[in-house]
Amino acid sequence: MNRTSQRLSAIRPSATLAVDAKAKALKASGESVIGFGAGEPDFATPAHIVEAAQAACADPRNHRYSPAGGLPEMKAAIVAKTERDSGFECDPSQVLVTNGGKHAVYTAFAALCDPGDEVILPAPYWTTYPEAITLAGGVPTVIDTDVESGFKVTIDQLDAALTERTKVLLFVSPDNPSGSVYAPAEVRAIGEWAVENGVWVITDEIYEHLVFGANEFSSMPVEVPDLAEHCLIVNGVAKTYAMTGWRVGWMIGPADVVTAAASFQSHATSNVANVCQRAAIAALEGGLDDVATMRDAFRRRATTIHALLNDIDGVVCAEPQGAFYAFPDLRGLLGREYGGARAETTLELADIVLDQAKVAFVPGEAFGLPGYGRFSFALGDDDIAEGVSRLSDLVGGDDGRS
Ligand code: PMP
Repeated sequence: MNRTSQRLSAIRPSATLAVDAKAKALKASGESVIGFGAGEPDFATPAHIVEAAQAACADPRNHRYSPAGGLPEMKAAIVAKTERDSGFECDPSQVLVTNGGKHAVYTAFAALCDPGDEVILPAPYWTTYPEAITLAGGVPTVIDTDVESGFKVTIDQLDAALTERTKVLLFVSPDNPSGSVYAPAEVRAIGEWAVENGVWVITDEIYEHLVFGANEFSSMPVEVPDLAEHCLIVNGVAKTYAMTGWRVGWMIGPADVVTAAASFQSHATSNVANVCQRAAIAALEGGLDDVATMRDAFRRRATTIHALLNDIDGVVCAEPQGAFYAFPDLRGLLGREYGGARAETTLELADIVLDQAKVAFVPGEAFGLPGYGRFSFALGDDDIAEGVSRLSDLVGGDDGRS
């Protein structure tokens, strides 16, 4: 008999966290590593949020169990925030507070998938989605996109992927890892396609406030109100308020599905830590000034990294439209040797670049799209310039190139 269940043995560890861990270990051993691996803002959580958490620690109300599905004040803050930010109107009974957006993703698939149900998953995809789908018994149907299509799926591709077993479409915009943002008309077309074909949508809105220039965030059930009965929204405070470590997210959906998910949560985790929920309430009620400052910094860095990466021969990078990731096409760098090591795949290239240039990025394999790489630009301008210049020196120099 296996010591570990088949279900858990089939899970691959998070590749993005693995790259980050390797880079941090190298750094700890004294190497000067530039890490493009991390998927988190490099800003501190705003002071008023931290102060709310400090006050919450001292309040005995927060020392006890609270409702498994979330504090009533937290649900009310989510309802108000959602209407303010995306225009989607809902009731507190439609909200489940989770341990981060990641837990909301996991719960959403657990709530919708029966064994064998197919989930359409556009690639490149965030590494957690296929694992969460598989754990729920679902089967990912992956649709490839590329740099030429701006990493966006088309209705024709959705039609081709549709079968009798299709239950859910996973949609995310702004996107991790590609940084692409679907225009409102594109969001509407995909939402209408889902309604026409009786497909549920899980829409991940965690990067809603990180949209640059003329690009615009839009929420699918707002664009297509008929979808609301078959749509789960995933969101959280991590990216908007620089709160990745606080672990607060949520899911919004039809009350029957949310009730089932809340029962599941009542056995799995109970309530999200009360102090963290109080901090999240302060974040949601505290306005959007801090995220505007972060967005300005990310927008500037997007322009910088886009230009620097495109300057490297063999690299083609689309300009990031949102989130904090650039996702260059690195296929032009493959099939060569660097310092005696051959890179046939981006997995190998990422290893070589980390070993030889001390620069960490996450290979496209982690996102279901080999040949590309994800460079988070949630790091300082000087580090971005230094990191890309090291990469350029390694792959663009004459040394070791064959
Ligand atoms: N969705 C996407 C697309 C993400 O990139 C992330 C974080 N990497 C999450 C959800 C989850 O964020 P968290 O669990 O930190 O709230």
